[in-house]
Amino acid sequence: MQSTWAQGTGRSVDCGHALSRYASSLAGCRVNAGNSLGAVVVKPMSLTLDTTIGTVEAEVMTVAGSGLIAEGAALEKVATGTTWAEGPVWLAERRVVRFSDIPANRIVEYSEDSGELSVYSANAEYANGRTLGLDGAVIQCSHGRRAVERDDGGELTTLVDSWRGARLNSPNDVVVASDGTIWFTDPSYGIHKAGEGHAGELEYGDHFVFRYDPASGKLDPVVIDVEMPNGLAFSPDESILYVSDSSVDPPGTPIPGRPGGHAIHAYDIFEGRHAKNGRIFAEVSPGLPDGFRVDRDGNVWTSSWDSVQVFSPAGKLIERIPVPERVANLCFGGDDGATLYITASSSLYRIRTTTSDAAQVNHGF
Ligand code: MG
Repeated sequence: MQSTWAQGTGRSVDCGHALSRYASSLAGCRVNAGNSLGAVVVKPMSLTLDTTIGTVEAEVMTVAGSGLIAEGAALEKVATGTTWAEGPVWLAERRVVRFSDIPANRIVEYSEDSGELSVYSANAEYANGRTLGLDGAVIQCSHGRRAVERDDGGELTTLVDSWRGARLNSPNDVVVASDGTIWFTDPSYGIHKAGEGHAGELEYGDHFVFRYDPASGKLDPVVIDVEMPNGLAFSPDESILYVSDSSVDPPGTPIPGRPGGHAIHAYDIFEGRHAKNGRIFAEVSPGLPDGFRVDRDGNVWTSSWDSVQVFSPAGKLIERIPVPERVANLCFGGDDGATLYITASSSLYRIRTTTSDAAQVNHGF
């Protein structure tokens, strides 16, 4: 891999290694810092994992950038052994990060206390993204059950799995608004992509973002013009909904009038239920945006092919954290909410920041 990154930072990272041989070769990375944006930290770290996952020793490195990254912070690889890590959420009471390993059909947890990764569910029906409800229950997306569901300490309850008599496709990611409504994306990866669920039909014929009201049981499409809606999050005051499009289609394909892929879209939210004025907030490259979070100042922290990218509320790229594996999603956690956990292919990474998740601040967890 060879990458030159962070427009305007004057830095470059040149790692002459294959990702699959990451552990033994990262020591050979050359890191160059070209300006005064912050210290470059190369931090060796050893880790031992639960034997159900595997054991690895690795050296990792990072480049700290703008004021959003804690001074002197290093990217740490804290766990490995997954196939495609996705859907992280911080569970404060137990001080763990729970996340999905979708192709392995399991849910795992990383414990800050023990430093170990353990299997939470070995038959997870291809669970994907998750968040917390206002009562602290885990709300998660299930590709396999084509549903959004609650997990109360291992007891699963289906919240919603159909719209107008048609099964959902494969809910991918989910957020909860301050009024308790549950907003989720419904692309088709879980029914059309091998290893991500069970083969199935696109029963309502499209890929929508839905708003589910647990109080009334009502399910309404709120965004219908994103080709492959994937991650989503609200601005701190919930006046804007951001939705990532993980398609890579050019504009107008496959459906005329739709914008091109690999971008994060923004919608103004009216009366807590209507998404209007859809527009491109930011194009994300290389690769595409999958999961993302919004911090308490309205900055958007998104996954991309080779890094975590941070966009200001105006849509300007203001930070890039290179990650040596493909990034799928991220969440804030730790006791003060300022640790960014990153799910990236086979591993879980983290880095200390100076901010926290807007939704966690709004909801008090
Ligand atoms: Mg996703």
